[in-house]
Amino acid sequence: MPSAAHPLLEVEDLCVEFRTRRGTSRAVDGLSYTLREGETLALLGESGSGKSVAAQAVMGLLDTPPAHIVRGSARLHGDDLLAMPPERHRAVRGTRLAMIFQDALTALNPVLTVGEQLAEMYRVHRGTGRKAALERAVALMDRVRIPAATRRVHDYPHEFSGGMRQRVMIAMALALDPEVVIADEPTTALDVTVQAQIMRLLRELQSETRMGLLLITHDLGVVAETADRITVMYAGRTVETAPAEDLYTRPGHPYTRGLLDSVPRLDRLGKPLVPIAGAPPLPTAVPRGCAFHPRCPRAEQRCAGHAPPFLTLSPAGHRSACHFAEEVHRAPVG
Ligand code: SF4
Repeated sequence: MPSAAHPLLEVEDLCVEFRTRRGTSRAVDGLSYTLREGETLALLGESGSGKSVAAQAVMGLLDTPPAHIVRGSARLHGDDLLAMPPERHRAVRGTRLAMIFQDALTALNPVLTVGEQLAEMYRVHRGTGRKAALERAVALMDRVRIPAATRRVHDYPHEFSGGMRQRVMIAMALALDPEVVIADEPTTALDVTVQAQIMRLLRELQSETRMGLLLITHDLGVVAETADRITVMYAGRTVETAPAEDLYTRPGHPYTRGLLDSVPRLDRLGKPLVPIAGAPPLPTAVPRGCAFHPRCPRAEQRCAGHAPPFLTLSPAGHRSACHFAEEVHRAPVG
């Protein structure tokens, strides 16, 4: 993806806190990224890393309270979503900005046919008549390669397989030609073959529409197939960001290295998998200094006392928040 492509979504210094009776926890701490036209950016991290909260903040889906956006901006073509009145943010959602959820069965209405649900998008947002809206729903189902769309438009969500339901979710997200689609773990509930089909479909649709795709995932396999750029999150912070190939071949952060060493890869056949020791911190107890230091095999004394700077490792925008980023980046992989 050429970096000259037009920026669609620019998130800068996003901080989200949860304030409860047990205290305040910062779920997202200073997240910044730019998503360009036709680009897939993956936000990658373990559960609790803040990636889904960050996506919900941009979509305007956080419950406030307990969530509070403490600072930051999220500009969609220059319009700051976080500064918009809620009703304007709602109008943007679904039209210019859409989301594909993880669990299609929960996200779809069980008592309406998928055709009724798809047609409703056109009736509510475009004022299309009932018959024309249903025809557009059929066309949309064709577009996401649902076989026999003319007949299946009258089926209910429970009559579809998991993979076909996820296609319906994708169809709903794309109905109004959004500029940006956020896909939150879109294939987690599916088996591996169907996962690959869904990711291939998203790539094909993206090349037709030039939409920006923000992919929220914990799955390095999904990321390898799909992403142009990857931002790795840990304990609410960005620890590394890079073009996908650079991140896989020359990671510059020990956490990213740990993630790569802990999953099976064709280029590491015969090598043992090495899990990352320990568990991610609770949002209420993020360690001082580098948040990864209690689990980091490379940690030294200063890691516990001083937060690492975000160092630039290449002109292509490879950056890492580690005191020893340059050495880690130089070390061979595997
Ligand atoms: Fe590990 Fe220290 Fe780098 Fe953090 S700053 S990732 S603890 S080496």
